[in-house]
Amino acid sequence: MMRQYELLERVKRYNPAADEALLNRAYIYAMRAHGTQTRASGDPFFAHPLEVAAILTDMRLDDATIVAAVLHDTVEDTEATLDEIRGTFGPEIGALVDGLTKLKRLDLVSKRAAQGENFRKLLLAIAQDIRVLLVKLADRLHNMRTLHFMPPEKRARIAEETLDIYAPLAGRMGMQEMREELEDLAFKHLRPEAYETITKRLETLTAKNERLVEEIERDLAQRLETKGLGAVVKGRRKRAYSIWKKMERKSVAFEQLSDIFGFRILVGSIDACYGALGLVHSTWPMVPGRFKDYISTPKQNDYRSIHTTVVGPGHQRVELQIRTRAMDEVAEYGIAAHALYKDPAQAPKPIGESRAYQWLRRTIDLLAEGDNPEDFLEHTKLELFHDQVFCFTPKGRLIALPRGATPIDFAYAVHTDVGNTAVGAKINGRMAPLLTELANGDEVEIVRAGGSQVPPAAWESLVVTGKARAAIRRATRTAVRKQYAGLGLQILERAFERAGKAFSEEKLKAALPRLARTSVDDVLAAVGRGEMFSGDVVRAVYADFKDVGRLVSGAATQGAGWVALGADALKMKLPDAADDPRAIPIRGLDADLPVRFAPESGAVPGDRIVGIITPGEGVTIYPIQSQALAAFENVPEAWVDVRWDVEAITHKRFPARIKLETINEPGSLAQIAQVVADHDGNIDNISMQRRTPDFTDVVIDVSVWDIKHLNGIIAELRAKRVISKVERLMG
Ligand code: MN
Repeated sequence: MMRQYELLERVKRYNPAADEALLNRAYIYAMRAHGTQTRASGDPFFAHPLEVAAILTDMRLDDATIVAAVLHDTVEDTEATLDEIRGTFGPEIGALVDGLTKLKRLDLVSKRAAQGENFRKLLLAIAQDIRVLLVKLADRLHNMRTLHFMPPEKRARIAEETLDIYAPLAGRMGMQEMREELEDLAFKHLRPEAYETITKRLETLTAKNERLVEEIERDLAQRLETKGLGAVVKGRRKRAYSIWKKMERKSVAFEQLSDIFGFRILVGSIDACYGALGLVHSTWPMVPGRFKDYISTPKQNDYRSIHTTVVGPGHQRVELQIRTRAMDEVAEYGIAAHALYKDPAQAPKPIGESRAYQWLRRTIDLLAEGDNPEDFLEHTKLELFHDQVFCFTPKGRLIALPRGATPIDFAYAVHTDVGNTAVGAKINGRMAPLLTELANGDEVEIVRAGGSQVPPAAWESLVVTGKARAAIRRATRTAVRKQYAGLGLQILERAFERAGKAFSEEKLKAALPRLARTSVDDVLAAVGRGEMFSGDVVRAVYADFKDVGRLVSGAATQGAGWVALGADALKMKLPDAADDPRAIPIRGLDADLPVRFAPESGAVPGDRIVGIITPGEGVTIYPIQSQALAAFENVPEAWVDVRWDVEAITHKRFPARIKLETINEPGSLAQIAQVVADHDGNIDNISMQRRTPDFTDVVIDVSVWDIKHLNGIIAELRAKRVISKVERLMG
């Protein structure tokens, strides 16, 4: 295990100004916190955070990152708390450790391959600081290096996850060295035989070619030297995983691979790169089609280099990469390499736009603008996917939601039933209000009511997802309907009793065709809502029933009706106005389209109206204030502009609905009827519902010529003392 002074030395080698006291404090704090814990290997656990820190010292990262690496497992695995760490090490390191703790929690959930991309996004969104990701990747690398100590069943899962998530992430951050090692380690555990075979052959080949490689290396270096290019030549061998991938991709045998050995020429400047390229191409013939210039056209992750293949000494194909030392550091360490430059002017300037991960370039831009590398690292807050939030079910399913989503949204995203029965939520194991705004990485457990439950209608305006909103609306509507059905049942039972007739659901069922309804529930709800009169139902069941108590004139028998029915819905059906089958007087439509008014919409000529096209059905006309239009808000193509055809409106009346609040006193209903009659209006229907001992709601359906006619009636109703409120209802 690395000693305290060793860690310090590693850091001081590249950063003589390192805060020794801080590093020492972290070392001792983590050592005490992990105490006697051990790893699967039997080593003291504390060796692990130290190794992670060591990997990061190779990348020459700042004190805060190294300290965060030493502390990265303390909060989750020991008694240490985040508050304590903040207190001891300050807010910056506190934030890094917090990010790492959150990421660590994600290790507990399964990351199926299908979730890979989402999961990478989640990592980026949670990390918030690029240094958190660097520590996370180093943590993963050390875990992969020691994976053979884990039980076999765990190995495959961790290796797959590494290949799906962490290796690509390292690649996208430009850290090729890290990516390759992660891939190789994962490959070793996932395909042990393939790994073994390729590695063995690689070793044989290396032994065989050892002298040749040395010869080429020397030869190249000499030639570059004589040209005064000051180059370093490094021989390199392809890794097992990348050989395997190539064999798979091109379905070729190991023997057919020509580029297992390569050389890297590192020079001081871009000019020198092209100078070296000229020298190589004029010395050995180049292999056509293998030349790529990523200096003039960098890759998305800012990788820059010249690639070429030549036929070298002994007719051996030799692959060459030519780049500056700075480019090499970027290629190996990616984003971390930018921290190496004290003088930002010398830092490799990124060229070219990365598409998928633009943040990389934004952070690099920050570096170019910043005064020093510390500044760069402090300003690498990742602002990614800020319109989304990613949460988990207790079983590890990843649920992506819009920002601002609550546990209610989460519940409906999981399943409509879960949403409908949600009564509480646990976020990360703690009870939390259902209206808490969810944060990235939250594990959300929905507490559900046993039995049936109706979501409060108010939820509809509090959720942010369309799915939740639609489901809540549906559930509330169903519940309201149920209440009406319950009321309807009471009314019917009493009506049958008064009529001296037996009532049963079976009898009602048999009468459904006569009532033009499809289910018993439908009838009950209609009666409860006051849309169907209980006497009509009795008569539909018993054809011989004479409705003696039926109110033919509301004004005359009003008092009796009030007392007899109490708070029940009372409905008086007056003679229907003759239905005029005349064409609907609307302009602005194709003549062939069938047109109808939305049922009970109550649109009368003069009202502002709009048409909604339903494919296969035609156009439905709504008044512009209609609530029903909300359902088409997101279907702009369904809306058509229509207007009344004034000429076609001649002898037709239109139904409108008015709601009144009246004072309970004899004669009030008569006054209403009188106003309508005085204005030459027809009352088609009246329904009343007593709200309090003093007030009754009265809804009247009147037939009017147009809006002016209707407004005249409403104005006069408003003037009556017995009427406290008048409003028009539109469906
Ligand atoms: Mn760890």
